[in-house]
Amino acid sequence: MLCTCAGALIGALASTLVPTNIPSAPRVALPRLSLADLSAPATADSLPAADATWSDRVRARLRSAMGLARTVTLRSGDTLTDALVRTGLDKVTTFSVVDAIHAVYNPKKFKAGQELELSFEALDDNGASELREINFEVGAGHSIMVSREANGSFTAKEIIADTHREFARVEGTIDSSLYDAAQEAGVPTDVLTDMVKLFSYDVDFQRDPQKGDQFAVMYERNVTDDGKPVQNLAIQYATMVLSGTALKFYAFRHDDGSYDFYNEKGEGIRKALLRTPVNGAVLTSGFGLRFHPILGYSRMHRGVDFGVPMGTPIMAAGDGIIEKRGPNGEYGNYIRIRHNADYATGYAHMSRFAPEFSTGSRVRQGQIIGYVGKTGMATGPHLHYEVMKNAAQVNPVNVKFPASQKLDGKLLARFRATQADTDAKFAALGQAQKFAAESKSAAGGND
Ligand SMILES: [Zn+2]
Repeated sequence: MLCTCAGALIGALASTLVPTNIPSAPRVALPRLSLADLSAPATADSLPAADATWSDRVRARLRSAMGLARTVTLRSGDTLTDALVRTGLDKVTTFSVVDAIHAVYNPKKFKAGQELELSFEALDDNGASELREINFEVGAGHSIMVSREANGSFTAKEIIADTHREFARVEGTIDSSLYDAAQEAGVPTDVLTDMVKLFSYDVDFQRDPQKGDQFAVMYERNVTDDGKPVQNLAIQYATMVLSGTALKFYAFRHDDGSYDFYNEKGEGIRKALLRTPVNGAVLTSGFGLRFHPILGYSRMHRGVDFGVPMGTPIMAAGDGIIEKRGPNGEYGNYIRIRHNADYATGYAHMSRFAPEFSTGSRVRQGQIIGYVGKTGMATGPHLHYEVMKNAAQVNPVNVKFPASQKLDGKLLARFRATQADTDAKFAALGQAQKFAAESKSAAGGND
């Protein structure tokens, strides 16, 4: 779970101390761990995570060496109780701890691999110790602390780390695919998904990227003050260099607060689908329930029909990739073009296909893909045109797939300022990372 709480909530949450309900028992005598339990050598369960900071690791090792700390990792099928009992905690303590956690966090949300850090009081003269505190992280910058009160009961509270916004820059060189290269470079999955969508108007990911091509992305994110990413926000800039040609996309916020992406020239990268992919067309049948002239009963018409003479050229409604091309039942000779992750268009009843394309071909908006006919279930020559959004046919007339504008005048001037600012941020992050990498390798050389 990602926590997006801002600093303002911290005070409120940190003060949510929830005492467990131990009925007015006098000081609960907590069964003790033996010295042997605590001084057991560190096991995989008690080693700090590899990504812990240096000071975390030192502290954990010190406490572990002193027998005062243990890290337990939930195994597959473990309940919280199972894991706690495994550390040597007795049932009464375990019960109070689980009860306390319940008040702020549902232990059912724990997954295998969850780590809990237990700390114990200093050993007494008999070499025994009581549990003092349990800490665990349930999300980036979001942890829970369970502590023992003077009366022996346990309380749990949430600790939400302070966060701030920053820009992150990730880049890499493509070996086999953008996806693999981006993952290897550390682009978070949600950012990568947005990045692919962004480039999908211009890049055919199956064909265009070649070995050695490069990409870079700069996005905003929320991070805790000690640098752990909590939430990824919008992409600010993305670029791909494909066979030496650079595509650069900048996020630009409009006056109404919405934002869109523009290329270096200030041209919107979103291209509208043609509403009428044939010239001189007359809409002969709209989208919706209609009486079917051949079937003789009413059914949904999931596209629009354009009445045009046999052989009229049919244009690709937008840039994309031919996903399907061939006879397709009632549709007759049919082509489907995929435009991006969300949108595809279909063209039915063609008399013939344009010979230069095949399944998998990349087409540009306005290119002729075939010719009007009456193949399949059709009473006469017409183009049956469908727009599919997320695989369902939608009314092409209502499709919200507008081209983004080309900026000019004051807007273009404002875009130029944003662009300069973005370029400067991107360059500065590159310098900072280069410096960090060099210091790291210099430090490594001294070992
Ligand atoms: Zn139709």
